[in-house]
Amino acid sequence: MTKLLTTLLFFSTLASANIKLAPPNFNLGDQRAVFVDFKHAQYDILFDTKNQQASVSATIRFEQLEEGYPLFDSVEDPFSVKLNGELISQRLISVPGGVSYMRMVDRKLPPGNYTLEVTSPITKRTRFTRKKDDWHRVSSAFFIRDLKDRLLLEQYLPTNYEYDNYKMEIDVKVTGTKRWHSLFTNGKMTKITNNHYKVSYPEFYTSSALYFHLVPIDKFVRYYLKYKSIDGREIPVTIYSRFRFYNYFAEKKARRVFRELEKDYGPYPYDQMIIYGTGIKGGMEYAGATDTSIVALGHELHHFYFAKGVFPANGNSGWMDEAIASWRDKGYQTHERPFYDSINLARHNVYTRKTDNRSYEYGRSFLAYIDYQLKEIGKPGLKDFLRGYFQKRKYTSVRTEDFKSDLEEYAQMSFSEDFFQYIYGSVGSPEDKSYDEHYHSEELNIFHAQRTEEELDSIL
Ligand SMILES: [Zn+2]
Repeated sequence: MTKLLTTLLFFSTLASANIKLAPPNFNLGDQRAVFVDFKHAQYDILFDTKNQQASVSATIRFEQLEEGYPLFDSVEDPFSVKLNGELISQRLISVPGGVSYMRMVDRKLPPGNYTLEVTSPITKRTRFTRKKDDWHRVSSAFFIRDLKDRLLLEQYLPTNYEYDNYKMEIDVKVTGTKRWHSLFTNGKMTKITNNHYKVSYPEFYTSSALYFHLVPIDKFVRYYLKYKSIDGREIPVTIYSRFRFYNYFAEKKARRVFRELEKDYGPYPYDQMIIYGTGIKGGMEYAGATDTSIVALGHELHHFYFAKGVFPANGNSGWMDEAIASWRDKGYQTHERPFYDSINLARHNVYTRKTDNRSYEYGRSFLAYIDYQLKEIGKPGLKDFLRGYFQKRKYTSVRTEDFKSDLEEYAQMSFSEDFFQYIYGSVGSPEDKSYDEHYHSEELNIFHAQRTEEELDSIL
């Protein structure tokens, strides 16, 4: 019994831990806007092919820790919002510094547990095609991007800032058609009918983890394979694209990178792998799933460990994932000094939700320099640290400070000055919350090349 209680306590602590990673609550006139802790979200999604409309009905249970007006996000303007069953209004507000937006529920609430119901349209990345005799089709994908503001799951479903991890469940139906549809997604899926699926996702998923791609059943060439993990598991692998030759090359490369990553960082962290081969440059990673070009495939698979195995807690943490992945892309180099004097990758406005697009080149150079220092003091190097860091932080969300403190513990030396100069852009003291807003012009990176809205629409 004691053991059971302790176990329960442990899990409830884990589930609520991430509210500590939220940015500070703030005042809007005389109203206190409060970040909350999502516990569970049920998303009932309907693709009505006859009327060519898609919508989601979200039921979100959340806990609020401080008195004030609760925040959530949805890029789409909701049809209706209910709080504990009662219709209520909400409004779009700007966060301090104007770096992003959130929706604020128009009700001052004391601390407690509440249920929010949000119904909203789904219009982005959704294409209906009319066919004769009720053979209509729909393609819809919840593709995300992280180098610009507010382009994660909030584009499609009501959700929260990236710090929050919570249990998500999806019920998706396609109606008004005899055409069957299939769903590629990185959760535990149950097929109810050929146009109705239920999916349950792990509790540690955030708004940057979920992969969802619904298509007519005759679309794409598909490979269904199994990779054997070093821990003995048979990992189901799905590779799909428009062309058989693409699947062939993706398969060869993915198998090689899978072996490399397991050897370097330990067993593959997911119980499935989904690779959607696209014809456009770059790629994007999700938890155990990716849409990607062949060139970027290794980079994206590496992100299953760093970015979607250990998750960034906010926009100021995303640089680490790109730095680590880019450091691998260039063959884990070692440098006596970074190539630059000072740059701010991780001390932007605390409400920022995007990753600094200089993280690849500058971050990689910084890690090569850290690697050099570790070897100087007789350690095997940064890759050795990363293996332990991954094992320790797997399935959790981290900030730059967590990475730094783990690194210092590993090396038994301080990296404060290096982070201050090379990562925080010599801005303020390490505790200072000041920031700069000078993101450089968009540099092209072949792995996370900036993809346009039109390009993403073209791969539905
Ligand atoms: Zn990347």
